[in-house]
Amino acid sequence: MTAITKSAKPYVARLSTYQPGRPIEEVARELGFDPNEVIKLASNENALGPSPRALEAMRQSAPKMHLYPDGDTFYLRQALAKKNGVKEGQLFFGHGSNEIIALLGHVYLEKGTNVVASQTAFVVYKLVAALYEADCIEVPMRNFTHDLDTMREAITPQTRLVFIANPNNPTGTVVDNAALDRFIASLPPHVVCVLDEAYIELMPPEKRPDSIGYVRNGKPVYVLRTFSKAYGLAGLRIGYAIAAEDGVSLLHRVRQPFNVNAMAQAAALAALDDDAFVTKTRKMTLDGLAYLAGEFKKLGLPFVPSSANFVLVKTGKGREVCAALQRRKVIARPVDPYGLPEYIRVTVGTTAENAVFISALKKVLA
Ligand SMILES: *Cc1c(COP(=O)(O)O)cnc(C)c1O
Repeated sequence: MTAITKSAKPYVARLSTYQPGRPIEEVARELGFDPNEVIKLASNENALGPSPRALEAMRQSAPKMHLYPDGDTFYLRQALAKKNGVKEGQLFFGHGSNEIIALLGHVYLEKGTNVVASQTAFVVYKLVAALYEADCIEVPMRNFTHDLDTMREAITPQTRLVFIANPNNPTGTVVDNAALDRFIASLPPHVVCVLDEAYIELMPPEKRPDSIGYVRNGKPVYVLRTFSKAYGLAGLRIGYAIAAEDGVSLLHRVRQPFNVNAMAQAAALAALDDDAFVTKTRKMTLDGLAYLAGEFKKLGLPFVPSSANFVLVKTGKGREVCAALQRRKVIARPVDPYGLPEYIRVTVGTTAENAVFISALKKVLA
């Protein structure tokens, strides 16, 4: 063993790494395909591409990329504060909302503490807990949905964070808004709730919980949002938290000086006004979900009704089915790391992509 391994903190070598959906280029290279023929429905990206307004803003910002970004994210902060009716000091920006999840770990977690999350919640919560040597108490879901009562009962004196993705990834389910109100109201004073709303823009406005209301009313909540999904900017890496000013101030202490790049700031600011694009994305998503549901029913495949831009479907042997789909130029996601070896998760694509996926699936299952 060399010094490289020997002098490292022992627990680091035991951490697991996040397994992302496979990139198109990698699969194409491995299987000898033209990358243009491969479709990726594995990471819940926006099949429409980036918001056109964001694309134009990126082009315009490109010549200024020799300059460091605005470390304070001034213009985007102002615009988002106005849009959400919160103070500018109640917003925090990150290199994707994933970075903010890790920074929350930095602020709240250490050895001897724990987080509470659903067994089938976004896997990053568990990885971040391990990163700070905290335990993760995993609560079984009920009907693929967060079981808030059991999550509440799972809280111990050592619990610091409770993670609720709503809609949840990989199940696509949402919690009942009244049940969420009761859950937030019932939190003991040593626990903070992280409401991860990565897919919230895809939900009809009247069905969304008043999550920002929790922040306005002084509840111990961090609301996480992202430009990766509805706005089609996953590659740029930009997300944000809405929280009490003292929470935002804690996050500033643990971030790096320029954690949000300049092109991402410009693109996000432009995307924010692109209501037409978000509306189009929502329509594509709803149409795609309806189409997939219909096809799954015809095939007799059980699936979990989704409020996000992906769906969990029970094909049996998820890993093998994903490998076989890949040989037919479709990348979907096995979900055995989430304890669902019989299922796959497929992202809603364009009408054409969805049809290619269904046709490939039929051949794979035949
Ligand atoms: C996609 C996703 C995110 C977004 O991550 P970014 O780092 O903002 O790209 C966050 N949480 C969940 C549950 C997700 O599925």
